[in-house]
Amino acid sequence: MPDTCRIIALANQKGGVGKTTTAINLGAALAKSGRRVLLVDMDPQGNASTGLGLSAGDRRSTTYDLLLGDDPAAEGIHGTQVYGLDIIPATTDLSSADVDLMSSGGRSRVLQRRMTELLADRQDYDYVLIDCPPALNLLTINAMVAAKSIIVPLQSEFFALEGLSQLMLTLREVRASANDALRIEGIVLTMYDRRNNLSQQVESDARETLGDLVFRTVIPRNVRLSEAPSHAMPVLDYDPGCAGAKAYLDLAAEVIQREG
Ligand code: ADP
Ligand code: MG
Repeated sequence: MPDTCRIIALANQKGGVGKTTTAINLGAALAKSGRRVLLVDMDPQGNASTGLGLSAGDRRSTTYDLLLGDDPAAEGIHGTQVYGLDIIPATTDLSSADVDLMSSGGRSRVLQRRMTELLADRQDYDYVLIDCPPALNLLTINAMVAAKSIIVPLQSEFFALEGLSQLMLTLREVRASANDALRIEGIVLTMYDRRNNLSQQVESDARETLGDLVFRTVIPRNVRLSEAPSHAMPVLDYDPGCAGAKAYLDLAAEVIQREG
């Protein structure tokens, strides 16, 4: 794994804020821009895997095997139809990994170790995106230890900022104990409704308190984004002209720009 490989975890302990939607569509947009992208599905619900067209039967080897199998087999990496984007899929058995990891030594570093082994002879990934579960559990901690940075999707609603303090506490703990270089890549406002005062309020509060950490791009509430996964496509393929597709292309451009 080359130093230039950027490992980014999509993290927020709240469910339904747009982690998986962002993992799929940012991943697709980066891949469309010619970047080599690997998505690691760390959520037992496996929504990113399904949304990218991997039926349960197609998942030969999964994130569970990567973490707890005898050998971090390269067969865990599955190709997709999406601009050469690869994925390590998840199935429901990953829900027991949280407990199974408890008994392994260096339990918060398992993903980091396994991914380093797995990617040792794969020099070609520019980005690894890790889709975290909606909890600050051992799976999320593993993702944060393995990552170089995190992207935090923030739903444009009233309690959004309050949930952040708990995440920041975890971030500080991870920095102190295992990964002092972990950065916040950015915070992305999702499900933004321009006509709604509350969305605007959340945005101005977020920009005021968090400054440049907040991506300029906001992801609008767009029904095409919620429809696309049931067609096993990223929104870029499902409806390339829609507002959601444009927003994720903009977000990808911003992420690429932050490389420098
Ligand atoms: P998480 O992974 O954080 O639990 P998801 O990405 O699965 O959240 O999103 C939760 C639900 O909201 C899903 O049904 C998804 O399709 C929908 N959704 C996510 N982002 C948007 C958006 N910008 N506009 C409309 N629906 C969205
Ligand atoms: Mg999710």
